[in-house]
Amino acid sequence: MRTEVLVIGGGPAGLMAAIYLARFRRRVAIVDSGASRAALIPRSHNLPGFPNGLPGSELLARMQRQVEELRVPMIRSAVTALEAGNGEIIASRDGEPIMARRVILATGIVDKQTPLADWALAVRDGELRYCPVCDGFEATGRKIAIIGPIGHAAGKALFMRVYSSDVTLIPIGDEQNDGKRRELDAAGVRVTPALQALRRDNGALAATFADGSTERFEIVYPAMGADVRSELAIKLGARHTSDGFLKVDAKQRCGVEGLYGIGDVVTDLHQIAVAFGHAAVAACHAHHSLPMRYAEPSASRM
Ligand SMILES: Cc1cc2nc3c(=O)[nH]c(=O)nc-3n(C[C@H](O)[C@H](O)[C@H](O)COP(=O)(O)OP(=O)(O)OC[C@H]3O[C@@H](n4cnc5c(N)ncnc54)[C@H](O)[C@@H]3O)c2cc1C
Repeated sequence: MRTEVLVIGGGPAGLMAAIYLARFRRRVAIVDSGASRAALIPRSHNLPGFPNGLPGSELLARMQRQVEELRVPMIRSAVTALEAGNGEIIASRDGEPIMARRVILATGIVDKQTPLADWALAVRDGELRYCPVCDGFEATGRKIAIIGPIGHAAGKALFMRVYSSDVTLIPIGDEQNDGKRRELDAAGVRVTPALQALRRDNGALAATFADGSTERFEIVYPAMGADVRSELAIKLGARHTSDGFLKVDAKQRCGVEGLYGIGDVVTDLHQIAVAFGHAAVAACHAHHSLPMRYAEPSASRM
């Protein structure tokens, strides 16, 4: 199979890039393995135009319908390797390989989890959340905990103090970090003993600490970091940070001819609005970097 542009990843970033490219009348295809972070969003309240919010699954379904109407092939599969040569990039997968002049990588990240066994149900019910920038507003006045290594979690805890006077940081491990502890103390954020266990408890989450005590929280935000699905690009030589986020230029190029990075896989603010912006920039650049195919004269206009 040969296409002008291949989009790897069918989350908000990849779907948006495909919508732009199809509307530029480019041959574009999407390969998607079906594990979008957006599918976990119970109801997003920071999408423009949806004052009452929209579930992430509904956003994905609407965008999938849009690409379907534009006749963009959506291949349900995982790309396992990329190879560059002769001005093309070849994507290997289960099934025939795909040759493309440009590839847009929109593969996202996977959040590292706390020890909570049924975390997906807690996310569905709004007890466990990942994105203070997205839904901190909806946590106003609630009893909130942030779980993670102090160095990593302190920023999220201080951010959440804007919304609530009852913010607790629950460390993982025995990290001292006196500087951050002083900053948290000055802002009125309590730091508990290290986390031992976490379980759902009747509409809240109950944390058990290293000293054996237990406390319930209405909302918990993990700050455990993420696994970045950037290995396809890194193996091709893409620029990246030490934790695997792609480093891109102003046109979303990541240092490999014909390859772009967009959405959460890029070092940036991990938001749908940002993913959309990346997608628009990469799609426009990819379009203008390929030879133009002008329209044939049309008889229907006169
Ligand atoms: C609980 C939760 C709530 C959130 N709430 C909000 C919110 O309210 N507002 C907001 O703006 N943001 C929110 N976010 C963040 C938002 O979900 C992400 O910023 C957004 O999904 C990023 O889009 P993406 O397309 O880059 O990645 P993703 O949505 O993760 O999509 C990546 C896609 O690539 C596919 N893929 C990965 N590797 C391969 C491969 N090798 N081959 C083929 N396909 C592959 C995956 O299966 C997946 O479908 C939230 C996140 C979470 C977890």
